[in-house]
Amino acid sequence: MANKILVETSARHVHVTAETLEILFGKGHTLTNKKDLSQPGQFACEEKVTVKGPKGAIKASILGPTRPADQVELSLTDARTIGVANVPVRESGDIAGSGACILEGPCGSVELKEGVIAAKRHIHMTPADAAELGVSDKEIVCVKLETARPLIFDDVVVRVSDKFALAMHIDTDESNAACAFGTVYGSIVK
Ligand SMILES: [Zn+2]
Repeated sequence: MANKILVETSARHVHVTAETLEILFGKGHTLTNKKDLSQPGQFACEEKVTVKGPKGAIKASILGPTRPADQVELSLTDARTIGVANVPVRESGDIAGSGACILEGPCGSVELKEGVIAAKRHIHMTPADAAELGVSDKEIVCVKLETARPLIFDDVVVRVSDKFALAMHIDTDESNAACAFGTVYGSIVK
């Protein structure tokens, strides 16, 4: 395998608990799979919610399946647009003390005291991928994107699991900065 990693842009999205899903969409509601994502078992949903901040609101899709905690992943541009302050750059699941917002669905709303983050750029890979690329779980690497506006991203965290598939995830701000449109690949720079 060459040092060639698919780079995908994660649009803003929301992860919800089963409890929050019922408040937003009604008792007994389950998520509707719209599109499978690159990571096995993960899917974009038909369900959209409104993310409200002090200065505005934006729509975001829910990604399934449901999770143990509510989490909103915005670009820092999105966060600024709706006026949510203190949005840290974090790995998924690390939400203590992160940004606050209100989630609104067709049947109700939920106030999140924390949970709004800008996702730290990362590469999902299997143990076999890690061995071939010579990296390990939680290692921080640089990745060069070969695009019309090439960019080397520093501080990219490697995440290794046999439940993953090889793909790097960046947010829309990062994607726009690098013109990472269409099918884009990156390589780890040692
Ligand atoms: Zn990811």
